[in-house]
Amino acid sequence: MITSESAGVPQRVSTGRLPGWDEVESLTVTAHERYRDLHDGTVADYIPVLAGADPGLFGLAVSEVSGAVHRVGDSAHTFTVQSVSKAFVYALVCREYGHEVVKDRVGVNNTGLPFNSVMAIELNDGHPMNPMVNAGAIATTALMPGATPAEQWELIRTGLSAFAGRQLTMDGTVYASEMATNHRNKAIARLLESYGRLDADPLEIVDVYTRQCALLVTAEDLAVMGATLADGGANPVTGEQVVSPDVCRDTLAMLAASGMYERSGEWLFEIGIPAKSGVAGGIVAIAPGKGAIGAFSPRLNSAGNSVRGQRAIAYLSRALGLNLFASDADARIGGTVAAERTRS
Ligand code: GLU
Repeated sequence: MITSESAGVPQRVSTGRLPGWDEVESLTVTAHERYRDLHDGTVADYIPVLAGADPGLFGLAVSEVSGAVHRVGDSAHTFTVQSVSKAFVYALVCREYGHEVVKDRVGVNNTGLPFNSVMAIELNDGHPMNPMVNAGAIATTALMPGATPAEQWELIRTGLSAFAGRQLTMDGTVYASEMATNHRNKAIARLLESYGRLDADPLEIVDVYTRQCALLVTAEDLAVMGATLADGGANPVTGEQVVSPDVCRDTLAMLAASGMYERSGEWLFEIGIPAKSGVAGGIVAIAPGKGAIGAFSPRLNSAGNSVRGQRAIAYLSRALGLNLFASDADARIGGTVAAERTRS
């Protein structure tokens, strides 16, 4: 087991700055232009009502930690947050219980299996393992404070609204469509219960979880929600301190490991920032200390990640210098370091 000491250790951060406003604005517009004519991928249809989504929609927003927001295309179009909610409910649960309890109860490792895998539970003695896929997310929702499922749901709705900086509401049609067909999620909850891993009524928790997935957001909301995690938990638009910097750090580490389903390794390798996607076509990608990108386009690849969203974020990660693993001695102090190295 890996542990990290924090008591008595100096706390510093390792991030730089975004380019200026004009450049972020023009690169956001370029990212949209580059991929708006890309028609690869298919709209999710396992939740029947999602099959009716307009595949042409494409919205992009970048929220800076300064509070500036850049928007292009269908950035104000509402869609259901789906799995992107898992990141923010996880943060709310971490806020309540802290690092160790959540790590122990839910786990922090990627299962390497699809989002709705039952096998991932069986292979790990009933331990849900990964809060970013359904089993772990249902176990996480069950940990939400609240004396009743109705209270838990309201705390989730208001909590995610604080991240977004506006009151979010649920799409009742998507919720009803999913509740009528989500036998697999109900089975996952029952399986967790059978292993003693769920401190709640399984069907009631699936109901709360399905509501959280049916919250309506825009690409701009996702950008602001993500920028709150990039900003030590302070919403850069409203100024509200939603969660602590420690919770942000833990949540972003989770997203880096598991936010993009079983393609999370590939995502980190290619794009290099924590992100979370959902089956309605939303993606939030977060650059700690700098800001976040919200993308929406309903056509998905086979893992369930928005094709255009992914490509646009990959472009912005490079163009804005977001990749957490990139370094360059030349960029450090105007080339002097590299030049001196070559001489010696
Ligand atoms: N509500 C969806 C489910 O539980 C979310 C899936 C997703 O976005 O990955 O199946």
